[in-house]
Amino acid sequence: MPSPLTSHVVIFPFMSQGHTLPLLDLSKALSRQQIKVTVITTPSNAKSMAKHVTDHPHIHINEIPFPAIDGLPKGCENTSQLPSMEFLLPFLLATKQLQKPFEELLQAMIKSNATPLCVISDFFLGFTLASCQALGVPRLVFHGMSVLSMAISKSSWVHAPQINSLSMLDPVDLPGMKLPFTLTKADLPAETVTSSNHDDPMSQFIGEVGEADANSWGIIVNSFEELEKNHIPSFESFYMNGAKAWCLGPLFMYEKTEASGLEKSINQNPSMSTQWLDEQITPDSVIYVSFGTQADVSDSQLDEVAFGLEESGFPFLWVVRSKTWSLPSGMEEKIEGRGLIVKEWVDQRQILSHGAIGGFLSHCGWNSVLESVAAGVPILAWPMMAEQPLNAKLIVDGLEAGLSVERVQNQGSEIVVSRQAVSEGVKELMGGQKGRSARKRAAALGRVSRRAVQKGGSSDHTLSKLIDQLRAC
Ligand code: UDP
Ligand code: UDP
Repeated sequence: MPSPLTSHVVIFPFMSQGHTLPLLDLSKALSRQQIKVTVITTPSNAKSMAKHVTDHPHIHINEIPFPAIDGLPKGCENTSQLPSMEFLLPFLLATKQLQKPFEELLQAMIKSNATPLCVISDFFLGFTLASCQALGVPRLVFHGMSVLSMAISKSSWVHAPQINSLSMLDPVDLPGMKLPFTLTKADLPAETVTSSNHDDPMSQFIGEVGEADANSWGIIVNSFEELEKNHIPSFESFYMNGAKAWCLGPLFMYEKTEASGLEKSINQNPSMSTQWLDEQITPDSVIYVSFGTQADVSDSQLDEVAFGLEESGFPFLWVVRSKTWSLPSGMEEKIEGRGLIVKEWVDQRQILSHGAIGGFLSHCGWNSVLESVAAGVPILAWPMMAEQPLNAKLIVDGLEAGLSVERVQNQGSEIVVSRQAVSEGVKELMGGQKGRSARKRAAALGRVSRRAVQKGGSSDHTLSKLIDQLRAC
């Protein structure tokens, strides 16, 4: 076996917060195993990544320029900088131009005797497969999704013609999948079912990167076996080449295990949010509210959330992304001392692991769900787009560690969830019988997730097996 320090892994994340952060966590987990890691990204992303890896001398960030493309505002190198989601497709197409510099970089590594054990690249960066194959390096793909969502997305892609003939609320039957809940067409990611022959430009792009995905050496999964054991075989069945799903998550927990010995995080440099939380002395009393880094929530919907949170009577910590929204008049006095609204980036993991937090009103992005599970915090699910409805079903119906908010039936309006629904949902999660039972389940899942990344736990064991197998390639 080669000396561990000579091993090298290349990681190429997609340029969005939710896809990048878990791969940075994986980079740190590998660097702690004495593996040299090269993270490839574009200049402005490199800048925001650098502060996450300062204590990791084995991680090197390698910049390649982001291409200038017609139809894409200048300087957009991350999906959170896009003016709206309409720019997502041009952004995705632009990333294809990163192939040449990526391939040149890989060639240079090989020439200088630093051939990587593998390249781990995002699902959206499908072009990496052809380069890896040409240069004889295994490619592992990262989707940033749960096993269940990946399996359902793949299956609904295959069965799109049948699903398309259904109306939104019809149940969907996916052959070969054992689901712990009823699925409707409305729950499925739009990209997989919008056109049955997949001939629109977005579907064509997904088809292309999906083809590269299907031919990859393996799949890196930010989940853990105990959470999604039942869905792994049906997911792996979509990889005709026998590629394996390596469940290594929750990826951010490795650092925590090492740094704090699994204790609830001790904050050495408290932010405004944690200081405020420290003042909330009743355990499990505060609801944390965040809709992630991608979803566009209208200002009138944000007003409705504000009224709902106020009406619920529970203390809340709410992270708002909108740059245009401000509290409806008169609200400031009403929530004084009981609610904190933050407009900056917060350390969500630290917030979720604070003892005062008792629930999370979440859009159910996979990272948020996993972070909530790991912290033992039950979720009030308000999925907004992509595969979020599937994550919501997994956490609410499959794992019984959350509740759902009730949606407004007329989806034509900007208001999708009414103030009453926010208020009722928060009251039930924080003070009701169903909320108590979800909190117990969440606490149990939190214990299992922490064990998964400890020495000898399922994910830790899988990580060692993966490294061994790659070294033997
Ligand atoms: N996040 C954070 N602070 C913020 C906003 C987001 O730490 O102020 C992190 C959050 O902890 C999660 C990620 O950003 O790790 C968001 O990913 P997720 O999959 O939940 O949602 P997305 O933003 O991709 O919709
Ligand atoms: N941020 C961070 N860690 C991350 C991603 C972002 O601390 O992994 C910070 C970033 O430095 C910025 C803020 O979160 O201050 C918002 O990030 P975004 O990418 O949305 O950039 P913006 O255009 O809002 O500055």
